[in-house]
Amino acid sequence: MFTLQGKTALVTGSTSGIGLGIAQALAQAGANIVLNGFGDIDAALASITATGAQAIHHPADMRRPDEIAAMFTLAQERFGGVDIVVNNAGIQHVAPVEDFPVEKWDDILAINLSSAFHTTRLALPGMRASNWGRIVNIASVHGLVGSAGKSAYVAAKHGLVGLTKVTALEAAGTGVTCNAICPGFVLTPLVAAQIDAIAQREGITTEAAQARLLADKQPSGQFVTPEQLGNLVLMLCSPMGDQVRGAAWAMDGGWTAQ
Ligand code: NAD
Repeated sequence: MFTLQGKTALVTGSTSGIGLGIAQALAQAGANIVLNGFGDIDAALASITATGAQAIHHPADMRRPDEIAAMFTLAQERFGGVDIVVNNAGIQHVAPVEDFPVEKWDDILAINLSSAFHTTRLALPGMRASNWGRIVNIASVHGLVGSAGKSAYVAAKHGLVGLTKVTALEAAGTGVTCNAICPGFVLTPLVAAQIDAIAQREGITTEAAQARLLADKQPSGQFVTPEQLGNLVLMLCSPMGDQVRGAAWAMDGGWTAQ
């Protein structure tokens, strides 16, 4: 039976949405969990420890390299290192390029892209030493295609897919793999904000706005779920994933098949 018992997984931005779903899946497989992010930290921790896994939280702001380093120091002290890194923290802002707030551009690039560079450079030495590791970058369909109004997000996610390929190549002769997952729409707080904006702009109900969002992009007409993404991460962490390297794996209801 596949188990992650004895392994430690650090999931950035894991207090809600996709990150929390992935942390729960890794905990159910037996991994110790390092949670990160803002919001209801106690509820997130409780949902992990309910599986029997050990969990800690570090409040690193993923815009800040010094705080990211402090999170790795805590993981080292508490669990002896990090075997699995899931780079999931991310934010969104929608505006045309010429109106895009400069500070939002900087934040999106820092959180959605540069933070993964920092966690990767900090995690790799330990992973190389044990000749086993998994780095999973939660990119997006927007790492593969563009959408109007999302310049910073699309640039950051394309960059994250690029970082994934280079990391996978540099670690190719070892037991360390690096892959990206490219989800379509998942109904989380990040997407709920976009649905609310559509409902308000068009004077329609939340349900109608959800249906509009999916009909525009996602042929299945259904949201991807955090549980489905958690299971894909487990596959990448299992022996089945040993030779999956540098992939940008879409789970998008057919979005990028169009
Ligand atoms: P979410 O808003 O539910 O969760 C984001 C998480 O990141 C939260 O835990 C939040 O506290 C944390 N976070 C935000 N800013 C942070 C910072 N500066 N430092 C540390 N943590 C911070 O969003 P989500 O939809 O679950 O998104 C998670 C990831 O999945 C993001 O990278 C997003 O781009 C990606 N994604 C989401 C969708 C979707 O449809 N929801 C689709 C494709 C990709």
